[in-house]
Amino acid sequence: MSMISSDKQPYETLCLYIDGEFIHGGGRHEQDVVDPANGQLLGHLPHATPADLDRALAAAERAFETWRLVSPMEKSRVLRRVGELTRERAREVGRNMTRDQGKPLADAVAELTRCADHCDWHAEECRRIYGRVIPPRLPNVRQFVLREPVGVVAAFTPWNFPYNQAIRKIAAAVGAGCTIVLKGPEDTPSAVVAIARMFHEAGLPPGVLNIVWGVPSEVSQHLITSPIVRKVSFTGSVPVGKQLAALAGLHMKRVTMELGGHSPVIVCEDTDVERAADMLSTLKFSNAGQVCVSPNRLFIHAKVFDRFMTRFIDNAKKIKVGHGLEPDTKMGPLAHARRLPVMADFIQDATEQGATLALGGERIGTVGNFWQPTVLTHVPETSKVMTIEPFGPIAPCVPFTDLDDTIRRANSLPYGLSSYAFTSSTKNALKIQNGIQAGMVNINHFAGGIAEMPVGGVKDSGIGSEGGSETFDAYLTTKFVTQMD
Ligand code: NAD
Repeated sequence: MSMISSDKQPYETLCLYIDGEFIHGGGRHEQDVVDPANGQLLGHLPHATPADLDRALAAAERAFETWRLVSPMEKSRVLRRVGELTRERAREVGRNMTRDQGKPLADAVAELTRCADHCDWHAEECRRIYGRVIPPRLPNVRQFVLREPVGVVAAFTPWNFPYNQAIRKIAAAVGAGCTIVLKGPEDTPSAVVAIARMFHEAGLPPGVLNIVWGVPSEVSQHLITSPIVRKVSFTGSVPVGKQLAALAGLHMKRVTMELGGHSPVIVCEDTDVERAADMLSTLKFSNAGQVCVSPNRLFIHAKVFDRFMTRFIDNAKKIKVGHGLEPDTKMGPLAHARRLPVMADFIQDATEQGATLALGGERIGTVGNFWQPTVLTHVPETSKVMTIEPFGPIAPCVPFTDLDDTIRRANSLPYGLSSYAFTSSTKNALKIQNGIQAGMVNINHFAGGIAEMPVGGVKDSGIGSEGGSETFDAYLTTKFVTQMD
């Protein structure tokens, strides 16, 4: 595997974005940002001081007084322009995202293109935030329900889809008339800085969007407890989500929580087994498995188990692992070195409990955070990998015989984000659709994070949803007005 050491495109100039100003260094603590494929230093990220955070909050509070009254047409114009810029810069921004996050360039560019659609979607939907008229009981009374922006939002986004996770929160907040202070992912910051530049160029007024970086627990504590903040939105792990939701609850703030999952897959005997294996092997190893909706527990009908596994493993073997900027790479490194021992532990625990290691199972080389595409079969459901989100390129597969029992097993974890099934029987499809406890059910195909789809989980996987026509709900309050002549 060769290393990409010289790249002509300069890496993003990292900075804070507060009150319409791009702020560099200035004696602030700076964090190194490195390429997870080769350890190369890419840049230095300035951390916000407590005074910077207060300045961002004050700017957001001030900007809210005017932004909330700006016409939906103007909000729509800004979002549409950011969509255009996202498309124009997809390759340039995608390239930097590959360098700090690790995913193949084609996937990074595809993420940007999908995000341009999210901008367009929010630009369209924000013009249709309607209230309603309630028929009065008296002839001289008029009654309305108004939907108003909730206020200043504190948002926290993760590193697996740096552009996507941030733009969904920003577009929803800005389109609803809120202002926002967003802490992006410190290890993969380039895409979020690029978003700030685009909104700036699109003419978003100062203070409506503010981008900060720092020690996550310190920044979240500072922002969530501030009386200026009225809403908290977080995407990340379940334990951190619970902590932040508890803190927000203590201060009576609304939350949107997009947390982890452990998506079950049910492959019935009556399906096109090879097609299912092809689709699932592509999805499982995409972004090296670091996807909240990654297929994680694969239940395959015993009658087609061997056929499925042969095809699935064959596909996994062919995945070219490498630096995301190399042209044939299909899977990049894990974003963090700390995840390598976690992968090793999942595999050791599963095999000790009786699972078969059918493919992979080891780190690749000693440079970069590369892990082999790994397939485990006959994995006991008590094993860690079947109960804790692997968030890596490990596919645990088990045979099943009874569909009802498998739906029960699929629902046995406290998560409920995404789920997948393959069947040609409408009876089975209906049973799965009605029986699975999840925010998303994909049967015989994958929706793929399109703008018109609401993304969200049930149970420990979160509260609320992003995208779809529900996208502004979490950023609006309901006001009842009654008026007598
Ligand atoms: P982690 O729990 O340490 O961090 C997850 C994310 O939350 C990171 O972006 C981190 O910066 C942020 N974070 C952590 N503590 C925070 C705090 N106190 N306040 C605000 N933000 C905070 O986990 P990790 O090792 O970075 O990632 C692994 C796990 O995270 C995975 O197992 C997965 O469950 C989860 N994850 C989920 C998503 C998702 O899209 N739902 C994305 C990334 C990570």
